[in-house]
Amino acid sequence: MEQTFIMIKPDGVQRGLVGEIIGRFEKKGFSLKGLKLLTVDRAFAEKHYADLSSKPFFNGLVEYIVSGPVVAMVWEGKNVVTTGRKIIGATNPAESAPGTIRGDFAIDIGRNVIHGSDAVESARKEIGLWFPEGVANWSSSLHPWIYE
Ligand code: UDP
Ligand code: MG
Repeated sequence: MEQTFIMIKPDGVQRGLVGEIIGRFEKKGFSLKGLKLLTVDRAFAEKHYADLSSKPFFNGLVEYIVSGPVVAMVWEGKNVVTTGRKIIGATNPAESAPGTIRGDFAIDIGRNVIHGSDAVESARKEIGLWFPEGVANWSSSLHPWIYE
């Protein structure tokens, strides 16, 4: 089954959005496979966002991610990478539809509350980076009520 890496950024934690965000993924029917609250250092944040290292906003982005604890999660389910991105909404909250997490809870692109992997391959890499210890192995007894 497909997995994605989701991170509630420091602003999401500070603003008390952790329960709300987890609830949206849970109620959709996805399964939580990994969860931890941690503060990362610069080197780790730079590794996570390595693909963006040449962008003008890179330094500010790294400062933002190390500015407080984040909630790192692995969610599992059919098409969870693409659907997770839809639940999160467009990168710039000015363009995120209402009903998405960023559309409902964010205003500025540099304070957009949440990260989600953009492809199955980046999800695999990000899960390996954030959860080197591995994730939980369980399956929900609700499976037949969610999948046909
Ligand atoms: N970002 C920013 N300014 C920009 C573009 C991106 O501050 O002009 C930040 C924003 O927090 C975004 C993150 O960099 O979530 C990663 O950018 P990406 O293009 O990967 O967007 P995402 O995948 O998070 O939607
Ligand atoms: Mg991205």
